[in-house]
Amino acid sequence: MQNPFEQALEQLESVREFVKVEDWVWERLTKPDQVLSTELKVGGERYPAFRSQHNNALGPYKGGIRFHHEVTEDEIKAMSMWMTWKTAVVGLPYGGGKGGVVVDPKELSQGELERLSRAYARWLAPNMGAWKDVPAPDVNTNAQVMAWMLDEYERVNQVNEPGAITGKPVILGGSLGREEATGLGGFYVLEQLARRKSWEPEKTRIAIQGFGNVGYWLAHYAHEAGYRVVAVSDSKGAVYVPEGIDPVATLRCKREKGELAGCYCVGGVCDIKQGELITQEDLLDLEVEVLVPAALEGVITKSVAKSMKVEAVIEMANGPSTPEADEVLMERGIEQVPDVLANAGGVTVSYFEWVQNLHGYYWEKDEVFSKLKKIMDKAFTEVYEGRGARAENNKDGISLRQAAYIRAVDRVVEAMKVRSLGS
Ligand code: NAD
Repeated sequence: MQNPFEQALEQLESVREFVKVEDWVWERLTKPDQVLSTELKVGGERYPAFRSQHNNALGPYKGGIRFHHEVTEDEIKAMSMWMTWKTAVVGLPYGGGKGGVVVDPKELSQGELERLSRAYARWLAPNMGAWKDVPAPDVNTNAQVMAWMLDEYERVNQVNEPGAITGKPVILGGSLGREEATGLGGFYVLEQLARRKSWEPEKTRIAIQGFGNVGYWLAHYAHEAGYRVVAVSDSKGAVYVPEGIDPVATLRCKREKGELAGCYCVGGVCDIKQGELITQEDLLDLEVEVLVPAALEGVITKSVAKSMKVEAVIEMANGPSTPEADEVLMERGIEQVPDVLANAGGVTVSYFEWVQNLHGYYWEKDEVFSKLKKIMDKAFTEVYEGRGARAENNKDGISLRQAAYIRAVDRVVEAMKVRSLGS
């Protein structure tokens, strides 16, 4: 697989000709402001740890912390750059950051996990804070990990500062609606796209790779609105149900059986019994209107893009398509809503959490959702219409990813210029 940081640079380079920036500004965009690294010692073991702070021209660095045995510095750098574009494209007052620890958390006891989380926060404490760098959960980290990290940070600094971390438990100042936020944001994107393509929900078939937090909530809201979610997959297998699954029953069954495929095989327990077991690869090749990658990076390769039979891809995972695949999709006229826009619902509700923390005043869930809808609808509309305007001056047209990047880079560059950064 391509080095993720090279992929991020290639994506940025694809809009170089569309944004007017001096070389020194561009140069700064291609590198994180700072990459911190260390080794955290827990129970006699050493775990490499990173925090990449890409750009803070628009506001404090913002981005998750992942615990995974395959974390690399380049992956964290790439993700921190993607966070800069993601927060800018939806208009949040944040920059981009990302953190990671090279560890397989399944091999840690609960006590070791807590000590590792606290060690990370102690190490990052001088470089984090509500107005400096605001971490959040990512792969294999959750609200409990954020609670330990916040507690450690507050102990070190002798303060109460809930806005220093988002994705916290509600009792510590977490926002209502954070769990649903990313999938729901993706659903708002689906609705915007459907309106423009004149799709009728009941005739719109959706295949979703990944039935975790993001995949489930997108399926849930799409199903409620009458769309047909005809296929879903998890790490163990995939199911295809032409008349559409019931996401609530499917989730209940998956929890009981431990896997989607198990639901199908046993039958009778939930609605997917009338479906068909397919492979994870088959799911990417189904004839549907919308394919939603909501699991892994780099799954839409050039060859997948060539054979895919869809009208649109909504990228809910981070970095699911390679730059080569992007080119194929563009040539084939397949609409691709890029990750930096499609999955921005999560960081948007993280932003709402931070705002509520700074005010010490908390909102009801419906208020969170209506504010999320406003932000997602506006960002989608501006990217979509922005592409139209740019494409008129460009014979080959531009992709939605390029349009999103142009909007994001323009905002970051404008902030850098008025700050006279680097001059
Ligand atoms: P999750 O761990 O809850 O779910 C991941 C799902 O992917 C699981 O169902 C898992 O079984 C499945 N999966 C793993 N390997 C697979 C394979 N080979 N084929 C099919 N399915 C497979 O994670 P999540 O929070 O839902 O995140 C999913 C993606 O969305 C990640 O790329 C993440 O970075 C991105 N994302 C998440 C959020 C968020 O708020 N959770 C925000 C932005 C982006």
